[in-house]
Amino acid sequence: MNEDIETLFHGSSEVSKETFDRLIDKTKSVLLRSFSDDERAFNGRMPEDMKNLLREETFLPRKGIGTDATLDIFEKILLPNALKVFSPYYMAHLHGPPMLASVAAELLLSTTNQSMDSWDQSPMATEIEIHLVNQLCNLYKLPHASDGTFTSGGTQSNLMGVLIARDHYYAEYLNRDVRIEGLGSENGRLRMYASEVAHFSVQKSAALLGLGHRAVRSVPVDKRKKMNADILDQMISEDRAEGLLPFLVIATAGTTDFGSVDPLDRIRTICDKYGLWMHVDAAYGGGLILSEAYRDRISGIEKADSLTIDFHKIFFQSISCGAFLLADGGWFDLISEHADYLNRPEEEEEGYGHLVGKSLQTTRRFDALKVWFSFRSLGSDELARLIDGTIETAAAAYRFLADRPSFEVVIEPEISSVVFRYIGALANEEQVDLANIRIRRLLMHEKGIVIGQTKIGPRTYLKLTLLNPRTDIKVLSRVFTLIEKYGNSKEICA
Ligand SMILES: *Cc1c(COP(=O)(O)O)cnc(C)c1O
Repeated sequence: MNEDIETLFHGSSEVSKETFDRLIDKTKSVLLRSFSDDERAFNGRMPEDMKNLLREETFLPRKGIGTDATLDIFEKILLPNALKVFSPYYMAHLHGPPMLASVAAELLLSTTNQSMDSWDQSPMATEIEIHLVNQLCNLYKLPHASDGTFTSGGTQSNLMGVLIARDHYYAEYLNRDVRIEGLGSENGRLRMYASEVAHFSVQKSAALLGLGHRAVRSVPVDKRKKMNADILDQMISEDRAEGLLPFLVIATAGTTDFGSVDPLDRIRTICDKYGLWMHVDAAYGGGLILSEAYRDRISGIEKADSLTIDFHKIFFQSISCGAFLLADGGWFDLISEHADYLNRPEEEEEGYGHLVGKSLQTTRRFDALKVWFSFRSLGSDELARLIDGTIETAAAAYRFLADRPSFEVVIEPEISSVVFRYIGALANEEQVDLANIRIRRLLMHEKGIVIGQTKIGPRTYLKLTLLNPRTDIKVLSRVFTLIEKYGNSKEICA
């Protein structure tokens, strides 16, 4: 037995098992020490301070220092300067604390290191993902023929939606197999529609896929930040009259800033009227499917041709973990490739599922395990209770802000984000912008409170994205009081 190797890789020997045990144990202790009473989400240091800490660091020394000493450095350098996602005072983005079940599953999946491209690299893991994807399709009430895959997140899922919608359009209406022949001369006339507050990955997908930003028509939203369906209908009809080729509407179920849900049923009707694909980006709002109280806010989701779900957002999973679901699994053929070394078609006929054909990735993590592990261990009642809690906290925050004259709050939240700004007695819009930008920085660097910032038109707003069940209205009222204090100070616009 080669002792070196036994201490470097996990395996069946006693030496290897002891090394694994000791290393995981020590790693655990380092983390436990970082779960401190300090409630701040961030220690306030500036980017230069962090760069300075790394100045002496050589990542690839000639002779390694061993895992213990490296863990010591990690504990000294990273942990104190990390964002504490579990802190109730972190509420900036669609990025929340992972539940412990997900963290445990993460250790299981990286230790077993199954790769989801071919059955021989992940036999039972492949079967679990297939089974889970089926049940997810049922959960979202997609048709019997539906199918899906796990992805790295919403960006990848949206890219897949646009890609498959485009290639389906070419195949169905332009008699062209894009996979083989590439794009046709009609390409410059293709048009897709998303609301003006849809996620930027819609534009990015259009750019990556050779459609360009000009192919994306930005549909105005109503007062509640939902896509205006009448204008959508009109835009499609006008574009067609001009000889353009509308092929896709991306509806958002839970916009990134506002959590607003587009009118899904109406959009489906419009898509049917013109023969367009309907992709629903439910990266944020998809979680509401578990909630008896709020599920109806995303009703119509079952009518999607394709669907983006993110588990690393409101489902409390560690990064990364997303899914892409298709109403008809047969459409995956539009993007499937075969490699002799990997997914031999004759084997697939014998029942060996090779998932590489449904994914943009080849080697792929077994992220499905986290969902399976968390869902199985918590159950839908408990998950729904957590999700409902964040929605109710957002509603309470909205009421709090709406009652205070020093604040402007944009819309009543449908999910768990609240967009607002401090106005106070400031003289004009420029001062309001400046004050809000400074308030966010002060909260971050002086108080370790991390909140979000965004724009509506030219104006700057603050944003709370409430994904942490520990962030309650008591925490938030403390933050709002601080914002008022900063906003009232003379220096804020100096
Ligand atoms: C977060 C988000 C995305 C992007 O998802 P990632 O997992 O960050 O890639 C896409 N759409 C919406 C609506 C989102 O909120």
